[in-house]
Amino acid sequence: MTDLSHLKADFPVLENGVHFLDSGASSQKPIPVLEAMDRFARTSYANVHRGAYKLSVASTEAYEAARRRVAEFIGADNPSEVIFVRGTTTALNTVAFGWGLENLQEGDRILSTEIEHHANLVPWQMVAKRTGATLDHIPMTDDFRLDMEAYESMIGPDVKIVTVTGMSNVLGTMPPVRQIADIAHRHGARVVVDAAQLVPHVRVNVSDLGADFLAFSSHKMLGPTGIGVLWGRMDALEETEPFEGGGEMISDVTLQSATWAEIPHRFEAGTPPIIEAVGFHAAIDYLESIGMEKIFEHDMELTEIALQRVGDVPGVSIQGPNNTIDRGGVVSMTMEGVHAHDLATILDEGGVAVRAGHHCAKPLMNRMGVAATARASFYVYNTEQDIDALVTGLRRARELFGMS
Ligand code: PLP
Repeated sequence: MTDLSHLKADFPVLENGVHFLDSGASSQKPIPVLEAMDRFARTSYANVHRGAYKLSVASTEAYEAARRRVAEFIGADNPSEVIFVRGTTTALNTVAFGWGLENLQEGDRILSTEIEHHANLVPWQMVAKRTGATLDHIPMTDDFRLDMEAYESMIGPDVKIVTVTGMSNVLGTMPPVRQIADIAHRHGARVVVDAAQLVPHVRVNVSDLGADFLAFSSHKMLGPTGIGVLWGRMDALEETEPFEGGGEMISDVTLQSATWAEIPHRFEAGTPPIIEAVGFHAAIDYLESIGMEKIFEHDMELTEIALQRVGDVPGVSIQGPNNTIDRGGVVSMTMEGVHAHDLATILDEGGVAVRAGHHCAKPLMNRMGVAATARASFYVYNTEQDIDALVTGLRRARELFGMS
């Protein structure tokens, strides 16, 4: 078993002993991240790309260093392909509106999947409505995988963009992104990957992944909220119009028109999240000090234990693949006769924090025929004891509801 239990001490929030199993929603921050942000705010903060004075130059350098660090982390050769945005949601909206409104028209098709988070569904619905393009969804199989046969039958020359999750936040399922991208590219379509759950847990190399756009959030990978990434291949970014206009994204402006700054700046209108970029940089350093391969191994060991022990609790159904093949550390469950919200409340009484609800994936919930699930999601600070506490809580819920 990969032992990362020593890391718990780096996370002040966990000092009260909470069994935090909700990193899929947002992860906790280790001391090096908190300290990096604090130090920067106390010593080096100023607005970026604006001032000629030393503090602004230092601040700009720190912000751009974060961009280079992200590029290196995801294997992007060109840091200009990394755009800092508010988070995955903004990154996906930037592609949907910035690329979609420019490149889609009536008769075109957008292909997404049944297992997406609303962040990778709703922007495409909005853009389909505005452009007249059709939106179709690759179905899920009964064993919670993407139906690749159906995908092959749905793709065609009218599909202009395929947008798919890298890891489902409800099921843990990791669709075969490389294969999906290769098929899409053979038909001339662009490929978007919602990597909100993927990049925090799996080593991603954008060249190997084969996508044209990748979206992820710092707050799910030990960094602060308010910053995330849209990575795009330069030729795909060149086909994309800025989604927001304002300061710092222009080359020239008259009263009637404007021309755009170079990529990435044309996509970063207004003052960017500067302190957050410094925290994000520190979070990546922290993850790399552990090693992404080790993190994934650890996630999967915990997932295997959870699938076994949670699955052994009478009345509990795992809503997702019941093995560790091509899946991540997200375990959704339902308990017969107990609503997911009641379950989460009972678990909380035992100090176990899980998410309950539709997880911003209502169409997937409908497909599964459930209104809500309770979801445990794992990260570097979790241990086998956290899963034991979860299982104890599940058994306690059964007792409270009069089931043996
Ligand atoms: N996509 C997936 C798969 C997610 O899990 C989430 C967040 O839970 C998002 C997108 C949205 O991320 P954010 O809220 O950071 O924009």
